[in-house]
Amino acid sequence: MNVVVLAGGLGGSRLARALAEAIDPGELTIVGNVGDDVEILGLHVSPDLDTILYTLTGRLDETKGWGRAGETWNALETVAELGGESWFRLGDLDLGVHLVRTEALRRGEPLSAVTARIAGAFGLEPALLPATDERLRTWLATPAGELPFQEWFVARGHRDEVDGVRFEGAEAARPAPGVLEALEAADLIAIAPSNPFVSVGPILAVAGIREALEARLVPAVAVSPLIGGEAVRGPAARMLARMAGGTSPAHVAGRYEGLIDALVIDEADADTDAGVRTIATRTLMDDAEGRRRVAEAVLESAAALR
Ligand code: GDP
Ligand code: CA
Repeated sequence: MNVVVLAGGLGGSRLARALAEAIDPGELTIVGNVGDDVEILGLHVSPDLDTILYTLTGRLDETKGWGRAGETWNALETVAELGGESWFRLGDLDLGVHLVRTEALRRGEPLSAVTARIAGAFGLEPALLPATDERLRTWLATPAGELPFQEWFVARGHRDEVDGVRFEGAEAARPAPGVLEALEAADLIAIAPSNPFVSVGPILAVAGIREALEARLVPAVAVSPLIGGEAVRGPAARMLARMAGGTSPAHVAGRYEGLIDALVIDEADADTDAGVRTIATRTLMDDAEGRRRVAEAVLESAAALR
């Protein structure tokens, strides 16, 4: 049972973990968003890849939903003391990953290769692939002007309304090595309950990946990131309301038109027509039982579609 999951950070890593616990983790490939990647203090940070790495290897700070458990902030305190860039929260444990990644990229190692090395060292069982090795960056059109992703999300706390998204570099971006092969070998393609605009959007902006989904011969199932029309965390509901015109399952499914065969939704959203087959369950994955339930819904809906 080969499964590929397209994933952002929190919702992405939660579904990836759920699937890794439900199937042979060696048969899972996670394709991660790199549109949030950012250069801070000379370091290349890949927040979504790292959230996935940390979540699936027991290193995530579960309370915050990002960063490392048991983190300390000594380096960043010195940065702040020296008037350096300290708005992007890089902890001491986290910094080690960024140092190794940045050094490798400077030597010319592709992001996919250094990600695989770090994942192997951390004991990650599923394959973790960036959507692309090329530079791809998310920009947001807001009433305050166009903002780079992390300036909007972290520095300004995603308070600006979003009127559009743009993926710089997407035209030239090719799928990272292994992505198309994994999609080709998949028995099931899953889209995580990640933000459709800024987490899944940049992955699907890589033409080769979108085309592989359009041409799929196997079921593709998305999990809605909304529960009762609200995001578990972050701006997904506000963005859907403003850019897609609503927060119903139909509005979520509409983001993936032609790319999915079914949508797993929460029971709190159950009584609307989404335009694709829906499977209603409780979709919060903050414990093992929740993860088991959602993984089962995804795997069973795929089996029913086959
Ligand atoms: P980010 O990169 O950390 O912002 O993460 P993602 O885009 O992958 O995930 C953010 C989205 O995940 C939000 O829209 C949340 O509503 C959704 N989300 C987080 N946890 C859960 C969960 O347990 N269940 C569901 N259904 N959605 C979740
Ligand atoms: Ca993210």
